[in-house]
Amino acid sequence: MEKKSSEPARPRIPPAAEGVQVNFCRNPACAQSGIPAGESTGRGQGTPKDRYVVVGAGRGALCLKCSGCGEYPPLKSNQGIAAERARLGAYLAAFTEPACPTEGCAQATVGISAGSPHYRRYGTSRAGSQRYRCSACGKTFSGGSATVGRKQSHKNRLIFQLLMNKSPLRHVCEVAGIAPGSLYPKVDFLHRQCLAFAGHRERRLQAGFAVPRLYIGVDRQEYVVNWTRRTNLPPLNVLESPPLDRKESKEPTDVRGLGPLRPSLSASRPAM
Ligand SMILES: [Zn+2]
Ligand SMILES: [Zn+2]
Repeated sequence: MEKKSSEPARPRIPPAAEGVQVNFCRNPACAQSGIPAGESTGRGQGTPKDRYVVVGAGRGALCLKCSGCGEYPPLKSNQGIAAERARLGAYLAAFTEPACPTEGCAQATVGISAGSPHYRRYGTSRAGSQRYRCSACGKTFSGGSATVGRKQSHKNRLIFQLLMNKSPLRHVCEVAGIAPGSLYPKVDFLHRQCLAFAGHRERRLQAGFAVPRLYIGVDRQEYVVNWTRRTNLPPLNVLESPPLDRKESKEPTDVRGLGPLRPSLSASRPAM
């Protein structure tokens, strides 16, 4: 198709999106590593020439050529990366717990976890969830619960343990005495609960909580995940090294072979 003169010129590199710009040299040994390509070539404008040249990489794809080390980092969509970051970090979004639903009530922004004297327990709803009574306006409302309305919620712990210990799904159904049709919704439910748990812990890091002395243990786990594509069938091993706060995990640091962090390090707030 002919390019119309009224169309805006295509940018040289994908524009930054939500502070993300990844179109730079990714060779850690290169002096230009992490320095993004310019939005113009810089030629003929009295400005220094850009560090990178945009070159074709075949099949319509483009990549940069780094003048520092000669590597060819492919051009990536910053918008796509920002969207994926938002999708993966959605569990960190502010948790909204049930609060008084009365408009204009002084406690409309006070969650039920504030407890007495703000709220008092007030029986249960027909579905079995806890009801609360607001002490400011007297209105009662349902607090909701993750497990209300779920049959066999007492089996969740066993199913979670079996899943975490690599039991085959058919084995999980047999041991827990549930049908395969009930297992998959339970896997989704456990996934949501795990994200809620991680969000509850990690939101405090975002807020920058004061840490007098932090003991961090690091554990390495190996996950075996399904194949990445149809032509590549072997299972894929993914290594993860999650850091754990000793107080949270209740595991002694010595077991993990790590001494306490130096006070100068531990006193600094965790950067997120
Ligand atoms: Zn380079
Ligand atoms: Zn109220």
